[in-house]
Amino acid sequence: MEKKEQLYEGKAKKVFATDDPNLVIVDYKDDATAFNGLKKGSIAGKGVINNVMSNHMFQLLEKQGVPTHFVEQLSERETLVKKVSIVPLEVIIRNISAGSFAKRFGVEEGIVFDEPTIEFSYKNDDLGDPLMNAYHAVALKAATREEIETIKSMAFKVNEVMKQYFDSLNVILVDFKLEFGKTADGKIVLADEISPDTCRLWDKTTKEKLDKDRFRRDLGGVEEAYQEIMKRVMGK
Ligand code: 5GP
Repeated sequence: MEKKEQLYEGKAKKVFATDDPNLVIVDYKDDATAFNGLKKGSIAGKGVINNVMSNHMFQLLEKQGVPTHFVEQLSERETLVKKVSIVPLEVIIRNISAGSFAKRFGVEEGIVFDEPTIEFSYKNDDLGDPLMNAYHAVALKAATREEIETIKSMAFKVNEVMKQYFDSLNVILVDFKLEFGKTADGKIVLADEISPDTCRLWDKTTKEKLDKDRFRRDLGGVEEAYQEIMKRVMGK
C-alpha cells in the first residue's frame, strides 16, 4: 500500500492518502496536548504504544461484533484504516466519577456509578468541545437520530467489552472518549483511537493512574504509565 499525500494533521496523528480512495494511513505522533491545546508536550514512545494498543482494542472489539475502521497495522506507528468522515461528536462513557464530571457536579473522583453514563461533546476546538445533547446534535446536523441511536448502543457495547478486558489486566476502566466515522457506503464504524490518551485507567490494587492524567496533572512517571499499560495489554 503506497503512502501518498498528507490529508490532515491533528494533535496526535497524521493521516495520509493511499492509492485506494477508500483507505487511509494514520501515523501516530509522540506529541501530547491537554486543555484544548493549552498544554503542549511530548511523551516518548507514546505514538507506538497508542498505535499498537488501539489496534489490539479494535481487533478485540471486532471479534465481539463492533465494527471499526481498522484494516491492518503497517509499522510501529502506522496503520491502514478505512477512510471515514468523522461524526463531529466526542462520545464519553463513564463508569466512575472523574475529570470534568467531578468538576461540573462538584463531587469527588472515584464514585462508582450503578450504571454507566454517556455524554456527547461537539468536536470543535475553537469552542473548546462544548457539551451537547442528542437534540443539539440533530439540530446541528452532526448526526441523524438513527445514527445517534447506533452510536449509543455501540458505545455501551464497547464499554462492556473493555471493562471486562481491563479488569482481567487488574485495571479499572474509569471513563473514555470514542469517535465514530461514516464509511463511503454510510455505515457507522468506531474510529480514532483507544489508548491511555483517551481512557482513564487506574490500577485496581493501588488506584494509581496509568493514563494521560499523569501528563495533564504533572504527576510524573508519564512514560512509565504508558509502558505499564502496554505491557499488561500485550502480555495477555
Ligand atoms: P473529561 O470530560 O473528564 O475531561 O474526560 C472524560 C474521558 O474522555 C477521559 O478518559 C478523557 O481522556 C477522554 N477525553 C475527553 N475529551 C478528550 C479529548 O479531547 N481528547 C482526548 N484524548 N481524550 C478526551
